[in-house]
Amino acid sequence: MTDPFTFGDQFGPAQVIHVQIPELGLKGVLVVDNVAAGPSIGGLRMATDVSAGECFRLARAMTLKNAAAGLPHGGGKSVLMGDPRMPEAEKEKWIRGFAAALGDNSHYIFGPDMGTNEKCMAWVKDEIGRSVGLPREVGGIPLDDIGATGFGLARATEIACKRIGLDLKGARVAIQGYGAVGRHAARFLSRQGAIVVAASDSRGTVADAGGLDLAALDTLKAAGKSVAEGKGASSGDTDAILDVECDIWIPAARPDVVREDNVDRLRTRLVPQGANIPFTAGAERTLFERGVLVIPDFIANAGGVICAAMEYIGASETAAFAAIDEKISRNVDEVLSNAQKDGIMPREAAHSLAIARVKRAMETRRWGIL
Ligand code: NAD
Repeated sequence: MTDPFTFGDQFGPAQVIHVQIPELGLKGVLVVDNVAAGPSIGGLRMATDVSAGECFRLARAMTLKNAAAGLPHGGGKSVLMGDPRMPEAEKEKWIRGFAAALGDNSHYIFGPDMGTNEKCMAWVKDEIGRSVGLPREVGGIPLDDIGATGFGLARATEIACKRIGLDLKGARVAIQGYGAVGRHAARFLSRQGAIVVAASDSRGTVADAGGLDLAALDTLKAAGKSVAEGKGASSGDTDAILDVECDIWIPAARPDVVREDNVDRLRTRLVPQGANIPFTAGAERTLFERGVLVIPDFIANAGGVICAAMEYIGASETAAFAAIDEKISRNVDEVLSNAQKDGIMPREAAHSLAIARVKRAMETRRWGIL
């Protein structure tokens, strides 16, 4: 395990807590990075290869994401070192045990992440009363069902279109990764008159310059099939989506899908990033130099965490959508204005915006980060 003394700076971490329950064979770590803006929100990740160092990096990413989203929450993250596919009864003991061990720590609010889900969050809520990403039956807003992140992505796209003089009505959209984020982004954008000309998933791509039938694609996905089996003028392998000529190209699948070696295949004007770190730094710079506008992930895909923060205060679904709309519209506008004014990449402007908000919050606190 990484030695906690080897990471950290003036922004955090405020706390690193190691939990061990030998009877269960459980080992876990909580990193509360920075709570200047309010109690931290971040996911509980369960995997066999997690480390305290990784947990710290993820907690820091949450500090920046929550600050960039303008939420009254700092960043934290927790990890359990174990196989998330262990028998459910055993997993329930692990999650409940870990939550109970951290129950007194009001600086951290659990959320779902890789290896955990709504049901795990319900167990946490039952143990300690502090979690987000809950099932509807216990006060949750099912953010993937309602399309919270896809909605925010569509709002970010609308704002950016105005800036580059692109009419969203009739704009051609390609979606890489027709899953929870991608399909809702497609739905909200098509409501604004955009035409979804291509979509892909892990098994293939379907494209049609005349526009795809989104309802038919949803039916295919619900039946466990690939979008590539859908009706379109052409279909191809997973990476064929990279070559589709369009106005708006949305990554909503995996990290590092666009790199220095394939970035030249993209033919688009605007990239609102739905996935986390979908492009390498070099690929993003190349697009910037080519004049392609990229809205960075932690600004464009914040709809999910905004929804979770609204759920935490008991807000309704309608209020959650209103908060996503307001926060994402304002943040995208501010980031793109600052980037243009200073001649820098939107990612650099977004980072400065988040850091400035964290610093201002720290100035109001006796201990800065805590
Ligand atoms: P998901 O599993 O519902 O959907 C992912 C889709 O991508 C699937 O259709 C899958 O087949 C497809 N896919 C996988 N590898 C691919 C590849 N190489 N090429 C094309 N398609 C591929 O996941 P999701 O919840 O929609 O999340 C997508 C991304 O967005 C992830 O990076 C996630 O971390 C990020 N994200 C999600 C949310 C959220 O609210 N769900 C919020 C912020 C960020």
